[in-house]
Amino acid sequence: MEERKLTCIVCPMGCQLNISLEDGKISSISGNRCNRGSVYAHEECTAPKRMLTTTVRVIDGFHPFVPVKSDKPIPKEYLFKCMNLIRAIKVKAPVKSGDILIQDICGTGVNIMAARTIPRAEKQEVS
Ligand code: SF4
Repeated sequence: MEERKLTCIVCPMGCQLNISLEDGKISSISGNRCNRGSVYAHEECTAPKRMLTTTVRVIDGFHPFVPVKSDKPIPKEYLFKCMNLIRAIKVKAPVKSGDILIQDICGTGVNIMAARTIPRAEKQEVS
C-alpha cells in the first residue's frame, strides 16, 4: 500500500488530503471537508491537470508580450508540448483581453486566451 499527501487546491481552505493507494488505485481518502476534495484527489492521482499561464509575443504592440492563460486545466503530459507551441507564435496588435489566441491547443479542447489588452504602439513621426 502507498500513502500520498496532497493539499487540495480547489478552494482557499486548502485541506490536507491523506490518500491510500493499492495497485495504483485509491482505496481511501481522508482530510477533505467536501466531495470536491475527493474528486480532486482522484484526478490528481490518475490524470493530473494544470492551468497554463505564460506570455505570447506581440508584433507592433504597446508591449512586446501579452500574458495568456488556458481557459481550462490542461492534462499535465501536454504542458511541455503546449508551451513549445505558444513560444513559437506571434500575434499582431491590438490584442483584446479575452481574445482566443489558440483554439483547441494540441487537440486538448483547451483554448489559450489573452489575459490583458495590448493596444497598437503609436508610430513616431519622423520629420
Ligand atoms: S476538500 Fe473541499 S473544502 Fe477542502 S480545500 Fe478541497 S474544495 Fe475546499
